[in-house]
Amino acid sequence: MNRISTNCLPEVAEFLGGSPLKAVIGGKEVESSNREVFATCDPGSQEILAEVAAMQPDDIDCAVRAAAEAFARSGWAQLPPNERGVLLHRFADAVEKRKPIFAQIESLDAGKILGQAEGDVQNFVETMRYYADLAMHVQRRSALAVAGHEAWTVRQPWGPCGFIFPWNFPILLAGWNIAPALAAGNTVVIKPAEDTPLSTIYLGRLAREVGIPDGVINVVPGFGKVAGAALAAHPGLKRMSFTGSPEVGRLIAEACGRNLMPVKLELGGKGAALVFDDVDVEQTADRLVQAITFHAGQVCCDATRWIIHRSIYERLVSACVRRMREVKIGHELDPAAQMGPVVSQKQRDRVLGYLRRGAAEGANVLLAGGEAAVSGRDGFYVKPALLAGSLDNVAAREEIFGPVAFLTSFSDEEEALGLVNRTDYGLANSVWTSDLRRASRVAESMVAGNSWINAHNVFPHGVPYAGINQSGMGGGVLSVETLFDYWRSLSVVRPLENSDPTP
Ligand code: ADP
Repeated sequence: MNRISTNCLPEVAEFLGGSPLKAVIGGKEVESSNREVFATCDPGSQEILAEVAAMQPDDIDCAVRAAAEAFARSGWAQLPPNERGVLLHRFADAVEKRKPIFAQIESLDAGKILGQAEGDVQNFVETMRYYADLAMHVQRRSALAVAGHEAWTVRQPWGPCGFIFPWNFPILLAGWNIAPALAAGNTVVIKPAEDTPLSTIYLGRLAREVGIPDGVINVVPGFGKVAGAALAAHPGLKRMSFTGSPEVGRLIAEACGRNLMPVKLELGGKGAALVFDDVDVEQTADRLVQAITFHAGQVCCDATRWIIHRSIYERLVSACVRRMREVKIGHELDPAAQMGPVVSQKQRDRVLGYLRRGAAEGANVLLAGGEAAVSGRDGFYVKPALLAGSLDNVAAREEIFGPVAFLTSFSDEEEALGLVNRTDYGLANSVWTSDLRRASRVAESMVAGNSWINAHNVFPHGVPYAGINQSGMGGGVLSVETLFDYWRSLSVVRPLENSDPTP
């Protein structure tokens, strides 16, 4: 691997030039206790972007202590919601002002098309503003009508909360998860993925500049088995939120269970797009191909199983194959590129492995996919692929996390719903039809946390987004309830005395 040769914005070059980049703990930049570092690279070129501190269990302990100290003593938890809201709005404004910097950092670190990275940064800004405003407008106290007593409940922040994120949407997921926690008055310790730690470190530094008290936002880069495991098992945390694979999700839930700590898990998926015969075939092909090639298919709620009415199956397949062949694959900063690389060699091997195993198990290969070459860039590029056949195929059952869809056909609605629901996951599905009555009926019968109609990957603020079964537990993100998750409920009661004035 070589050092980066791409022309960066001066601020990005300066940030990367500070390598090895440190953790942010208690408002200070901190190296790891044993000075270990790891390299993070541009998946579009394999060039090293920076080295980053690999935090150790004793460092994680310091970070949790800093978050606990800030919760107890910085005044953050006691701020009236409107004053905390002012600081969070200032934070959102500062991120927005630096959108080109954040977007370039995110694009290079995750291999994400620059325009999509800009969208993720904007989403962070909007999530922060949404929760800052919401916390000002919900009632934290509710009076209870109880005979002979004065009683009420009050919602209080929990304390230091831990967050572990994956590499596919680092800044966007940080927003979805830490914004409600911060708006509610908690303090946070964030362990970004080792493949994509950069935007979160930059975020941690910026928090200080806008006046968020030291220790309210701590960022601890490092390896999952070391830094992540130490964070999940830390008895000083009050809540945990994890986004990633079901395998690691189980480990996190076990660790939290031992400490009797509430945990929110957002895991994988194997979503379906259920396409009826009354759709506009060309428009549906556009949207399905857009969804599966978006961020090279590294999206947990993607439509990876396309269940298509048999009367339009051939037409839809050829419309999709045509489009997928034309997808322009390129480096994430190339303005002409529509699809960038996958995040790592490991991820490319995973995608190619599923293509091989799917074909070996008898899948019909509609579009072969495979490694893609991008001139002058030695990155982890793959072509989009389409397989078809029985949904018992490994490529139809397991999460691939690449630009690969598995297709099958159906004849009637009941059969189609059976196929959609034949999965251990339960994150998100979509139904495609011009009959809106059927759309609602089918949307409500799909067994998952989220159903979309004539669209896929839709996340308005205010609509809860959560998985069930192997896709998650513990409440979701993006809604009013998420804010409430970051408040514990405390009841207060006083027996009335004879001397109390009658109301
Ligand atoms: P992915 O397959 O998307 O990399 P993972 O679930 O492996 O998903 O990783 C998601 C996050 O979980 C990353 O930040 C990673 O470092 C962290 N992680 C991995 N293993 C562990 C573990 N044993 N304990 C805690 N965190 C972990």
